[in-house]
Amino acid sequence: MFEVKNLTVNYGAAKILKGISLNVAEGEIVTLIGSNGAGKTTTLRTASGLVKPAGGEIRFRGTRIDTKPPEEIVRAGVVQSPEGRGLFPNMSVFENLLLGAYLQKDKKKVNESVSQVYDIFPRLKERRSQLAATMSGGEQQMLSIGAALMSRPRLLLLDEPSTGLAPLVVKHVGDAIREINKRGTSILLVEQNARMALSLAHRGYALETGQIVVSGDTEGLRQSEHIRKAYFGQ
Ligand code: ATP
Repeated sequence: MFEVKNLTVNYGAAKILKGISLNVAEGEIVTLIGSNGAGKTTTLRTASGLVKPAGGEIRFRGTRIDTKPPEEIVRAGVVQSPEGRGLFPNMSVFENLLLGAYLQKDKKKVNESVSQVYDIFPRLKERRSQLAATMSGGEQQMLSIGAALMSRPRLLLLDEPSTGLAPLVVKHVGDAIREINKRGTSILLVEQNARMALSLAHRGYALETGQIVVSGDTEGLRQSEHIRKAYFGQ
């Protein structure tokens, strides 16, 4: 459903993505792992239309999206939950969710989406009146994913949801990601935390300095010598 082909991205003279190809099939969780500066966030920002590629293409359900503005990409069903969470700190949980539904004018649908988000993240329901700024790191991460879900994505792009979270909280966020996928949303999960990512994904790719160096199903990746050395220190 989502296909990236020979994608190249430059920032000025710096070549950040050097011709990467990857895909996500309907119903899958696919992970893109890689260390700091590999180009993971750049890949997602390009998929969201925030960065324009120098070459290659991105297709979603057969249609090219890399030439479209961000809003149209969201409308098509590709929605990113940003790294650093992208919340409105002085607004409540509920208000942040409503802002996530900015393209939806039908109030009934907005209310349905809020209920679905509260179903997946009961903690957000309990804290619906609390200001985003006063939520814990894990709760903010949940809110950021919840706000992305308000646009009812077919493909959810997640940028390092485990960053800065304690192991138990990472597990909660992981459970929620699994639940979102079970309910029918495909997911492209960008992570530095290879252990978490490979425990959730069906397949994955490792990105290093702008190139895909290994790819495969998660079991194969876990056993790959490269992954074991580079990500698990074995
Ligand atoms: P991290 O895990 O640290 O977020 P990443 O794999 O997501 O890393 P990117 O954020 O995609 O990496 O950055 C890839 C490279 O591009 C880095 O060297 C970064 O400094 C550079 N870069 C990112 N944004 C810009 C920009 N707007 N202008 C110039 N260089 C940039």
